[in-house]
Amino acid sequence: MRPVASSEPLVCPSCARSFDLEERFCPDCKMPLVYAGFTGADHPVTDSSEKARKIKPQYAEGDLVRVAGARNQSEAEFIQGMLLEEGIPSVTRRSAGFDVPDFLAAGPRDLLVPQSGALPAREVLLQADLVPADPAAGRTPPLRIALALLALVALIALVAWLGTEVFA
Ligand SMILES: [Zn+2]
Repeated sequence: MRPVASSEPLVCPSCARSFDLEERFCPDCKMPLVYAGFTGADHPVTDSSEKARKIKPQYAEGDLVRVAGARNQSEAEFIQGMLLEEGIPSVTRRSAGFDVPDFLAAGPRDLLVPQSGALPAREVLLQADLVPADPAAGRTPPLRIALALLALVALIALVAWLGTEVFA
């Protein structure tokens, strides 16, 4: 028989305590509660405590800030897993404008982490090539685009030349 705590439907992603469905936030950590066993049916009982053990308390302080966007829930969970490996707790929210029933299962997600975990989280995501360091750094330098275009034009010219050689 399972312990009573693990049968509770909601857990705090930070301290892994269980709560009733009426609760929305952990009173201690101020983290939005998530469904127990939410990330998979393989190990629903130990999952939340396993997560809580990985989380570094210094990354679990402050208000939630958005660090990344994901195209869907599974991508969001993938990113969450990466962050958790670094000890950073995170929550996902449906991106604004997509919180309608059609998008409940699919649709883009925002990834939020506590303020103190935002910087290390961005570093993790940067290394994974998931977000630019800042909006400007994400753009491809104009020179690289010009060179790529030049290479493309040269390739097309080559193909055209080969074509005329072969079929002439
Ligand atoms: Zn908590």
